[in-house]
Amino acid sequence: MTQIICIANQKGGVGKTTTAVNLSAALALAEKRTLLVDCDPQANATTGMGIDKNGLAQTLYHGLIGEADIESLITATEIDRLQVIPSRVELIGFEVEMMNENGREQVLKKCLSRIADRYDYIIIDCPPSLSLLTLNAMAAADVLLIPLQCEFYALEGLGQLLQTKALINGGINPGLSISGILLTMFDKRTNLSHQVAEEAMKYFKGKERVFSTSIPRNVRLGEAPSFGKPILLYDAGSMGAQSYIALAKEILDG
Ligand code: ATP
Ligand code: MG
Repeated sequence: MTQIICIANQKGGVGKTTTAVNLSAALALAEKRTLLVDCDPQANATTGMGIDKNGLAQTLYHGLIGEADIESLITATEIDRLQVIPSRVELIGFEVEMMNENGREQVLKKCLSRIADRYDYIIIDCPPSLSLLTLNAMAAADVLLIPLQCEFYALEGLGQLLQTKALINGGINPGLSISGILLTMFDKRTNLSHQVAEEAMKYFKGKERVFSTSIPRNVRLGEAPSFGKPILLYDAGSMGAQSYIALAKEILDG
């Protein structure tokens, strides 16, 4: 069975892309057939995987608007079992293009359904908004993984995200559940990090899982994208790499 994981939080810079790229790499290196779908016009996951977006003829956008076969967009990476559907800035146009289309929230789901059975995991990286692209990702997914940056205001806006999920549950994707909340940029030396962790535990207690793995603030994680590599290829021994291996294991163990 394929599991489709949507990585979402409308707050910017909380570690969505870092998680999408590195969780994908960790799952693939654990021998799971993995597809990373870059659903963000910023295309950070595409670049972070070392794909030269300007050299591409077509991207996810063309697949979504029916100008490209989704299959033709699948791009290989340095890791055997990891493939990417890349994005580029033109993806911004999707929302306008779809304005008057019926079923516009289900476009990605339809595209992915044609190739999903080739993969054990499909990871979707979302933009920092609750836009039509994020709705498409939530509609296509089995589970939602929510990165929470260990910063003041971390929980702010979470209500809106959970409300959106509830709306989706009531309509286009009744089966969507939360796989877990992931604490990111955790700094064990600061009180603030511990406070945010505690608050998150309290907020979700008895309702949702907070992963026991948290992702530490780690310079190597910040550096890796500029080399177009997931952390596991850039510095496998780093704390950042080890934490994403642990997260993958937690997900594999269910
Ligand atoms: P956006 O909302 O813009 O898509 P995002 O939620 O995808 O952002 P990232 O791009 O993953 O967030 O991370 C934001 C910045 O923080 C990036 O420069 C990234 O390299 C850095 N970063 C992410 N996680 C860590 C970490 N654990 N330690 C150090 N730096 C990190
Ligand atoms: Mg991002």
